[in-house]
Amino acid sequence: MTETPGIVITGGSGRMGQMLIKSVLASDKCRLVGVLERSGHDWIGQDVGNMMGGQPAGVDVTGDAVEVFARAQAVIDFTSPAATVGFAGLAAQARAVHVIGTTGLSDADLKAINAASRHAVIVRAGNMSLGVNLLVQLTKKVAAALDDDFDIEVIEAHHNQKVDAPSGTALMLGEAAAEGRGVALADVSDSGRNGITGARKRGDIGFSAIRGGDIVGEHDVLFAAAGERIVLRHLATDRAIFARGALKAALWGQDKSPGEYDMMDVLGL
Ligand code: NAD
Repeated sequence: MTETPGIVITGGSGRMGQMLIKSVLASDKCRLVGVLERSGHDWIGQDVGNMMGGQPAGVDVTGDAVEVFARAQAVIDFTSPAATVGFAGLAAQARAVHVIGTTGLSDADLKAINAASRHAVIVRAGNMSLGVNLLVQLTKKVAAALDDDFDIEVIEAHHNQKVDAPSGTALMLGEAAAEGRGVALADVSDSGRNGITGARKRGDIGFSAIRGGDIVGEHDVLFAAAGERIVLRHLATDRAIFARGALKAALWGQDKSPGEYDMMDVLGL
C-alpha cells in the first residue's frame, strides 16, 4: 500500500495551527509528520501528544525546519510574513508543496515566494474557504455588470488579535471588484485606510475594518447607488473551513508542476 502524503504544520500552537493539527489527525488521506513552532512555545509537543492520545512516532514537534521539511510532502503554513518567506525557501529545497495561508505579505515577500515557486508547488490564498472563493467570483461578476454609479465598499470584521488590516480576504475581494471593473485596485483605492473622511471619489473602492472579541471572519461587499444597494456577504463561524481548504490544497498540489497557484485552481472555480 502506498503511504499517504506526510504533512508538516508550522505555527502549530497558533489559532489556525491547532485547527490544522486536528484536521490532519482526523484525515485518512494524509499523515502528520511534523509540527514547528517558534522557540518559547515548546509546550506544543505535549499538546500534540495529548491530541493524538500519546506522543506519536515520527512526529517531531521541536525539530529543525530543514530536517522536519525533508520528511514532508506538504507544509501547511499559517504563521507570520517573516516566517513564511523563510519557510518558502526551505519547502522548495525539500520539494514539498507549500500551502500558504499567512496574510499581510509585502510585495518583497511575494517576490521571494514567487522565486521559491520556480522549484516547487506553492498554493497561496488570503482565504482558503470554498465560500469566500465563491464570493470572490461573484464580486467580480457583479462589479463587471454594474457601472461606477455604484460605489463599492469592502467591510470586514475579525477578532481583536488580528495583526493586519484590511484582511487578506478583504484585499482579495477588492482586487476582484477592481478586476470586474477593468481597473487596477492600486489606482482606485488606498487600501490601508479604515473608513472614509470627506466626499467619496467616483469609482473608488473603499475598505473598512472592524476588530473585536472572537469574530472568526466576516466580509461584506457593498455595491451602493442612489436608490438601491446590493450586499454580498460571507460569515465564517468556524476556522475548520480554512483548515479544510488548506488540506485540500496540500493534497491537490501533490501531482502538480512547480509554480504558484491559488484556491481558485484547487477548487476548479
Ligand atoms: P496566531 O498568531 O494564532 O498563530 C500564528 C502562529 O505562528 C503562532 O503560534 C506563532 O508563534 C507561530 N509562528 C510565528 N513565527 C514562527 C516561526 N518562525 N516558526 C514557527 N512558528 C511561528 O495566528 P492565526 O490566527 O493562526 O493566523 C496566522 C496567519 O494565518 C495570519 O496571517 C492570518 O491572517 C492567517 N489566516 C489565513 C486564513 C486563510 O484562509 N488564508 C485563515 C485564518 C488566518
